[in-house]
Amino acid sequence: MRATIIAGNWKLNCTLDEAERLARGVMDAALDAPHRQVVLFPPFTALERVGKVARLGPANLFVGGQDLYWAENGAYTGEVSAAQLVDCGCRHVLVGHSERRHLFGETDEATGKKVTAAVEAGLVAVVCVGETLAERQAGQTKAVVERQLTAALGSCKPERRAQIVIAYEPVWAIGTGETATKEQAQEVHAAIRAWMAGHCDADTANRVPILYGGSVNATNAAELLATRDVDGVLVGGASLDAATFARIITAGRLG
Ligand code: PEP
Repeated sequence: MRATIIAGNWKLNCTLDEAERLARGVMDAALDAPHRQVVLFPPFTALERVGKVARLGPANLFVGGQDLYWAENGAYTGEVSAAQLVDCGCRHVLVGHSERRHLFGETDEATGKKVTAAVEAGLVAVVCVGETLAERQAGQTKAVVERQLTAALGSCKPERRAQIVIAYEPVWAIGTGETATKEQAQEVHAAIRAWMAGHCDADTANRVPILYGGSVNATNAAELLATRDVDGVLVGGASLDAATFARIITAGRLG
């Protein structure tokens, strides 16, 4: 049975006090959904503060970094290593978010190095993949996602595969208010699972949690979470309001 993961990507938002308030504001919902994992991705500046809240909170509440760099240390101004994230209390890290790829020019090759650095440091890597609108309209969705998976997971050792979570986030759905239908999500999630079976192994394909992300809100979360190959959601904008995110954490059938 795969874990259901409800993740909140706070992006470039929140002062320290706002971040702490937001984390405290979802603790009750996490308690009400003990079989779900709730992962908060605050900005780097708030990791330690939110990490402390998570440590004192319910056992299913975790904190993660929004990005990392693959080197362990050195002259890489502005970057943060996997070990530094672990040091701040992180258990997870996002890799290859579409904003990193499209706004900051992150390449497929870089995502592969980041995934390897993350899992070797003991982190769970939440690997984001997804097509642009033009790619979808050109019928390239599966090819794009498979190319991103190949680059991201190509160097991941078999014994590290249990530390991989995939987030399917169609770029056209991120922050646009346009959500993929459950049929669109299911089609791509099934393709991702099939790719995992072919390129990793059947056990990994069955076990890997595949999250959907892209304009998830308190109204559409339950339907998405009830979709067969959707094992959770990665939420941006709607995770910035504690009451809304709490409703997403407890959306649908808890079990
Ligand atoms: C995201 O940034 O990962 C995301 C899914 O954003 P939003 O929910 O705002 O579309």
